[in-house]
Amino acid sequence: MQRSPLLLIHGGAWAMPDEAIAAHEAGIADALAAGYGLLERGGSAMDAVEAAVAVMEDDEIFDAGRGSFLTRDGRVQLDALMMNGEDLRAGGVACVERLKNPIRAARLVLEHSPHIYFVGTGAERFAMQHGMRLIDNTELIVPRERERLMAFQQAELEGAVDTTFSGPIMDDPTISSHDTVGAVALDQYGHIAAGTSTGGTLSKAPGRVGDSSLIGCGCYADDESAAVSLTGWGEPIMKLVLGKWAVDRVTAGASPQDAATAAIDYLQTRLGGHGGIILLDGKGRFGLAHNTPRMAWGLRTADGVQLGITRNG
Ligand code: ASP
Repeated sequence: MQRSPLLLIHGGAWAMPDEAIAAHEAGIADALAAGYGLLERGGSAMDAVEAAVAVMEDDEIFDAGRGSFLTRDGRVQLDALMMNGEDLRAGGVACVERLKNPIRAARLVLEHSPHIYFVGTGAERFAMQHGMRLIDNTELIVPRERERLMAFQQAELEGAVDTTFSGPIMDDPTISSHDTVGAVALDQYGHIAAGTSTGGTLSKAPGRVGDSSLIGCGCYADDESAAVSLTGWGEPIMKLVLGKWAVDRVTAGASPQDAATAAIDYLQTRLGGHGGIILLDGKGRFGLAHNTPRMAWGLRTADGVQLGITRNG
């Protein structure tokens, strides 16, 4: 039976200031157009996820690809994962510094490697061997992020940063934003897929890998249950393997919306974590939730587009 395609994406969850809203909405709209256009023309959920995420990686407003947060030593290190719900194939890359679109490298790993996960220079070499161009790390850096890193490191020196990243810091947009991007899609063949891409957290230690590119943490997809992408403070999400936790709730009979709400409640109550989640099942039922002040997301179905910057409280 032919299904009606659906694409649901997010562009981060944090205390997004009013002046950042229009740029996030524009980026989300562009990503939806690119991904859904493929679905309409008979493309797969994988194609749609890759295209939508790549558009957001190219958009400097998000913490993915060019414009990402900087590491403690002023470089960009990127992580991404794609997962195909049809056959559970997955591909991930982490700590890559020379790829413009890590989500495309993740897709290449998924399609062309017996392995699932590559890091650092090994990931870059694999991508290059499969046709991707290696760039200089400075091409991924924008002045806004140099300034943000300096402000953060200054605040750290003054003792103004809570390095547990919990509590009120999540309300401070200058030092605690989560602009990771992600997408989940359902194609006309009834398959679902998920992808997540990130520059990680601001001033992270070089070599640090967060939840976004780890299977079952920031991303997961299984046609028999659901596809999921998360954003937020990565370490608590990893400890709870929260993506798989949410997907398992759908397998057990919860609606994607109830599972999304429960996952964010669990993140907060168990570990004081914060973030946002999008979830989609093979029937086209979806859900989203966040405990950050705002979350940027967008939905495209046969009925049209819905763009939202949802606000808590
Ligand atoms: N989850 C990402 C990480 O911890 C950051 C984010 O979502 O903004 O790497």
